[in-house]
Amino acid sequence: MSDPEPAPVDEPGEREKTFDDLPLHPTLRRGVRDMGYRVPTPIQQTTIPEAVTGRDLIGTAQTGSGKTAAFLLPILERLLQHPPGRTYALVLTPTRELALQAEGFLRQLGRHTRVRGAAVYGGVGMEPQERALRGGAEVIVATPGRLLDHMSRGYVDFRALEILVLDEADRMLDMGFIPDVRRILRHLPTRRQTMLFSATMPPEVVQLSRDFLHEPRMLRVQEATVAAAGVSHRALPVPSHQKTDLLITLLKDPQLSSVLVFTRTKHRADRLARQLYQSHIDAGVIHGNRSQSQRVKALEAFRRGAHRVLVATDIAARGIDVEGITHVVNYDAPQDPETYVHRVGRTARAQRQGEAITFLLREDEDDFSRVEQFLGERIPRERLEGFRYEEDTSSRGGGSGPARPAGRGRPHGSRWGSPNSQPPRRNLTSTSRRW
Ligand code: AMP
Repeated sequence: MSDPEPAPVDEPGEREKTFDDLPLHPTLRRGVRDMGYRVPTPIQQTTIPEAVTGRDLIGTAQTGSGKTAAFLLPILERLLQHPPGRTYALVLTPTRELALQAEGFLRQLGRHTRVRGAAVYGGVGMEPQERALRGGAEVIVATPGRLLDHMSRGYVDFRALEILVLDEADRMLDMGFIPDVRRILRHLPTRRQTMLFSATMPPEVVQLSRDFLHEPRMLRVQEATVAAAGVSHRALPVPSHQKTDLLITLLKDPQLSSVLVFTRTKHRADRLARQLYQSHIDAGVIHGNRSQSQRVKALEAFRRGAHRVLVATDIAARGIDVEGITHVVNYDAPQDPETYVHRVGRTARAQRQGEAITFLLREDEDDFSRVEQFLGERIPRERLEGFRYEEDTSSRGGGSGPARPAGRGRPHGSRWGSPNSQPPRRNLTSTSRRW
């Protein structure tokens, strides 16, 4: 096959596009309306017309861009007239949370259709999933490892498969799933439509697309990062021993009503949740060592508002889709821009506003300036009013010294280069466009 060539994406015209402009059956438009979606997001506008034709495509889009509906709606459209009882579509996702989320969206978007979906993921019993697979759910949403387990038992029948989606391919790569994905793909009919979604295109993902996609159309969405749309950012320098106190002080502000807090490790997540609990702050915790039912429970309590705070590690937070997260707090600063974008993408989902607050140690500064460079934006350093900062004895001066004044612009001779040089800007003006 030939290499994917980026194709220009139509800029949405003057008039705002609606779902009525997209080639979707009225029953699906009803489903969309029931979900409360008013206008299609950019990835939906570009993907849906292409995907319903059955061609292969690559979408570079983040979680938070509306990409799940961008591939589910065409799947539903294509399966509307198919007789039930066989599996026609398979969606592979990196985490169980994403699998559950996609299966949930499928159920809601397709509620006026007969199309049935099933989620297949690890950490829970095999039997209900086996029944769904044997019963021929028309759409299977699966994590690769668990699906392979089922496939090795011989009852999975993909002979009727017509559509394959590889969701968050770069994340599957990070998590070491690409060999599993390739193993699965070898068992699928070759005459099929394949859609690959990825926030970034590392070489291994490009190779995967070369091996398994046929003349794909490349759909890039102008939105460089979710982080740029509707999220404001600030950083609070702090000595490491005061992080928890700083968080507790921050949480005195009632505007932080639904807060997702990220820590670097599972151990730190547990410890922080305990400390918050001791300070009478309702906090749930979600990380890889917790059982599936504990994770679902914590997520549900957070969703309902029973926990004001959810403490999470990065892996566990993949695919967390909770309406109305007002703040993301990086208790431990992320070490690379992508992690920052993924974390921050949990707030300001769809058309809302949100705030990202990063606690910064002195030693985090280098990594954090890479984040700023990626965003093309200088994130203001601030001091929290009313908080008693102590001397930082652990590092070179720490957050105890005066924070640089809030606002943009770096001191002369900074890593952006000469005093007049600007950080590479991403297309932030177009990203702030509302959907
Ligand atoms: P995703 O990027 O698929 O994880 O979706 C992010 C969030 O956006 C989810 O909460 C979706 O329900 C929501 N969403 C998807 N499409 C739309 C739309 N057209 N309008 C408003 N919200 C949407």
